[in-house]
Amino acid sequence: MIRLRGVTRCFDLGGQRVMGLDAVDLDIAAGEYVAVMGPSGSGKSTLLNVLGLLDAPDAGEYWLKDEATGRLDEALRAELRSRWIGFVFQSYHLIPRLTALENIELPMLLAGIEPSERRRRSGALVERLGLGDRVQHRPAELSGGQRQRVAIARAMVMQPALLLADEPTGNLDSRSGAEVVALLE
Ligand code: ADP
Ligand code: MG
Repeated sequence: MIRLRGVTRCFDLGGQRVMGLDAVDLDIAAGEYVAVMGPSGSGKSTLLNVLGLLDAPDAGEYWLKDEATGRLDEALRAELRSRWIGFVFQSYHLIPRLTALENIELPMLLAGIEPSERRRRSGALVERLGLGDRVQHRPAELSGGQRQRVAIARAMVMQPALLLADEPTGNLDSRSGAEVVALLE
C-alpha cells in the first residue's frame, strides 16, 4: 500500500539546510496500524505530510497503491488525496463558520457526492462517533474532544484507504485522548 525508498526532505531556513527526512525506507501494508514515535523535530509531521501528499520529497520515491507519486501533477495528487486519504490534525483544522455537520459533509460536497448519499454517510458517522445533536453547532461551541471526533468523521467520510493522524490527542485531556485513540483504532 505504501512504499518509500530513500525519501528525503530538506528545508532551507534562511540559507541553513534543515533535514526533515533523511533517506527513509518504509513499507506499510493495507490493514496495518502504525504509530510513528520520536522527539519533537525528528520528522514525524514531515513524514505524514509526504504520505498524505501534502508535501513532496526532494529525493527518493513514494509509491501509494502502486502509483509512483513523484510523476503526478498537483491536480492528480489532489484527486488521490480526496479519494484515498483522510487527515486528522492536532489542532483539528475545522472550518469555523460551518457547523460540525457541514464540516463532516464538506469532502463529499467537494467530491460531487449527491445530497441523499451525503446525509446517509454523515448520519451514520455522527451516530458511530457519538456526536448526536452537537453537530448542529459550530466548532467554537464544541469541546476539544468533540472537535476531534468531528475531524475524524470528516477524515473518514470518503472511506479513505489511508487515515493519517498527526498527534491527534496532543490538545486533549487524557480521557478525551483515550476516546479519540479508541475511535481511530
Ligand atoms: P516533528 O513532527 O517530529 O516534531 P517535524 O517534521 O515538524 O518534526 O520537523 C522535522 C524537522 O524539519 C525539524 O528540524 C523542523 O524544524 C524542520 N521543518 C519542518 N517543517 C519545516 C518547514 N516548513 N520549514 C523549515 N523547516 C521545517
Ligand atoms: Mg509534528
